[in-house]
Amino acid sequence: MQLRFVGCGDAFGCGGRDNTCFHVTGERVNFLIDCGASSLPALKRQGVARDDIDLILITHFHGDHFGGLPFLLLDAQFTRRTRPLVIAGPEGIETHLAQVMEALFENSSKTKQRFDLTIVALAPETTVRFGEVSITPYPVVHGESGAPFLGYRIETEGRVIAYTADTEWTEALIPLGRAADLFIAEAYTYDRLVKNHLSLKALETRLGEIKPKRLILTHMSDDMLERLDILPYEAASDGLVVEI
Ligand SMILES: [Zn+2]
Ligand SMILES: [Zn+2]
Repeated sequence: MQLRFVGCGDAFGCGGRDNTCFHVTGERVNFLIDCGASSLPALKRQGVARDDIDLILITHFHGDHFGGLPFLLLDAQFTRRTRPLVIAGPEGIETHLAQVMEALFENSSKTKQRFDLTIVALAPETTVRFGEVSITPYPVVHGESGAPFLGYRIETEGRVIAYTADTEWTEALIPLGRAADLFIAEAYTYDRLVKNHLSLKALETRLGEIKPKRLILTHMSDDMLERLDILPYEAASDGLVVEI
């Protein structure tokens, strides 16, 4: 099984990185985790076959995690996709998707897709299965209002992939990431506290309780990117592919 960091940047293009989008492929699974605004060109540039993707998991409705869906869906329509697609994310996803489609391309939310498109709202701490992908969403802390924010623990083909999404430290990250084969954690800043985001130092103090088998840092601001050479951890980069 492998995971490709199609994009691992923040919302503001720090380091020239693309918005968040991870592509997971195994023997029988093929899915995306998040689909930020720049995801379609990034997927094309990296030669990812979009037609083979069965599932897109969305952590929250910020543009750098969710804003790529209108482009991806219109591209699927125009390239005559036939394979069914499931898009799953926090409560309210159907409304948010219609709104962003309409805001970017008028009338696009009313177009009947040529392929089966299923939108699924996920509830925190309720495990759901999509084919061979088992997903447990955890509530994370990334804003006071609006739709819920989710991080994911994903079990598939005998592996566990966990992703914090964007969040400040919350105890939910412990069961979310515990002993995961791959734990992808936001490390927005080094030690500076930024509301709704995770610093590496805040994560580090609790890492012993999570004990991931492999940790990869993502969603880094310039503050972190400037220190990449001296950090004792693996860090994501656009196009990086890891075996799990
Ligand atoms: Zn973000
Ligand atoms: Zn966000």
